[in-house]
Amino acid sequence: MDTLLIKAMGKINLSLDVLRKRDDGYHEVRMIMQTVNLYDELLVTQNQNGKIEINCDKKWLPCNENNLIYKAAKLLLDSANENRGIKIELTKRIPVAAGMAGGSSDAAATLVGLNKFFNLGYSLEELRILGVKIGADVPYCIMGGTALSEGIGEILTPLKGAPECFVVLAKPDINVSTKYVYENLHADTLKVHPDIDGMVESIKRGDIRLIADKMGNVLETVTIQKYPIISKMKESLLKDGAMNSLMSGSGPTVFGLFTDKKKATIALNHLKKQGFVKQGLVTTLTSNTCTMEQK
Ligand code: ATP
Repeated sequence: MDTLLIKAMGKINLSLDVLRKRDDGYHEVRMIMQTVNLYDELLVTQNQNGKIEINCDKKWLPCNENNLIYKAAKLLLDSANENRGIKIELTKRIPVAAGMAGGSSDAAATLVGLNKFFNLGYSLEELRILGVKIGADVPYCIMGGTALSEGIGEILTPLKGAPECFVVLAKPDINVSTKYVYENLHADTLKVHPDIDGMVESIKRGDIRLIADKMGNVLETVTIQKYPIISKMKESLLKDGAMNSLMSGSGPTVFGLFTDKKKATIALNHLKKQGFVKQGLVTTLTSNTCTMEQK
């Protein structure tokens, strides 16, 4: 194989709960993960000098060993005793430090892609076990679609695909560190928890309005306190006809669910007019996981 093009999908959290902080510092979560139709592209070719080389169209993103693509490639190639080199060109579309698991999805795509590129023979389960060493969201990103994620993110239950709807995704001009948000969350003092079991039931019924009703994210308590703009964006989406609106992951990306594409577009334009949006689009939910195309 000469060249492989992989799509690394972004995600939102339809709901996110944190149960407790474990003794090892990790947080035990219950999250409803959902893939959206927004993806980064990774173009893989062999590198004759035996090294792992990454290029990215966004010059401010680290292309060295700090890039999650590098970490994933190194982990997989070392584990397989594979010493052929690899070059990966990244086209970045998923907003960075945004609560959309962009880096984790790139890492997942790297594991799945290089496994195929070099014919390494790992099962998806084995790749998920490797993936969690890089980040808690990586196993889900390998799986994709709609899923309940528990433990620290490694216990995954696939769910029926969410019904068709339109999603406004809007990231304000702020970068949020996931580490900061979890460090400032006091899980034991949370008074309100989203109804995750109710969300699972709503997804089983395939009713988008019930799904919208069950949306909730405990991390909003930390991120919105620091960045009240997130609250304003949520309100604006609701006023413009969203079934519901929520912050995704640790933020700051906000999303709104709509039954109507035109309404969704008007709501996004309104957010933009108010100066709330650095990156924004109208997209859909999808069951796709990372797809690969030989060139
Ligand atoms: P999550 O939803 O999993 O919390 P996030 O959206 O908050 O993810 P990412 O976009 O994955 O955050 O990136 C967080 C940090 O990781 C960035 O500050 C960036 O410098 C670093 N990073 C390393 N590799 C990548 C990559 N391939 N894509 C994006 N960020 C990367």
